[in-house]
Amino acid sequence: MSPPLYNLHNHTPFSDGAYSIDELCEAHLSCTAVKFAGLGISDHLFCTPSSREIRNERDFQRTFAAETRDYVESVHAARRRWEGKFHVFCGCEINWPLNRNHLELIRGLLNGIDYVLFAYVDWAGLTQLANQARRWPCPIGLARTDVARQFPHTSLDQVVRTMANARIFYEVSVALLPLGEHERWFSILPNHRVALSLGTDTHDDLSCLEQVPELVRYLERHRLADRYFQPRLRSAESGDALAPQKTHAV
Ligand SMILES: [Zn+2]
Repeated sequence: MSPPLYNLHNHTPFSDGAYSIDELCEAHLSCTAVKFAGLGISDHLFCTPSSREIRNERDFQRTFAAETRDYVESVHAARRRWEGKFHVFCGCEINWPLNRNHLELIRGLLNGIDYVLFAYVDWAGLTQLANQARRWPCPIGLARTDVARQFPHTSLDQVVRTMANARIFYEVSVALLPLGEHERWFSILPNHRVALSLGTDTHDDLSCLEQVPELVRYLERHRLADRYFQPRLRSAESGDALAPQKTHAV
């Protein structure tokens, strides 16, 4: 049986996306090219669009704690609206260079967030993340990363081992198409336990969904179809993972 497919990289007007969560759910459900079991919202958090500068920790907390709570609330409300019809996960995307000095604060603000996608991580960043991966309250992954380009002085083998040991997942993004250009990376992945997520980085163009089958077929050909990252729902209150949804009695 094939695993459930989720597109875990979508933006909404909460950050810089054009479509509401409901519109994204409808678009995924009506997509004939691939059968999605759900989606993840991954809006940019912890980056202020205002010209205001964040001066200190208290300022950071004050600026982003309320914003993050509002975000989680709106995604969880959508999750409830779609319950039984479509899974809605609550992720977020974090810009590494902008936030690398605030990681401890950020970890305390992730109640109700199911996973974090990091963008623009360099090698020093990946090793830093790997060292603290287990301290994060939810799984963390690398968004739309061209490994050979982003870590030019590190062997692919070292990258993959670092990610596998720290259980950092890797996003297979439509931004990397054609994946054949990254053949070396995808050829070593089957030998290491790195989970893979699918991502379109949807902003204002839903046609990106039609490119997902190409990703899926490529992963199947590379014996990676059993590697899909399966997020778990985390409640906003305790930050704990929720119990799995009940299935039919047998
Ligand atoms: Zn994005």
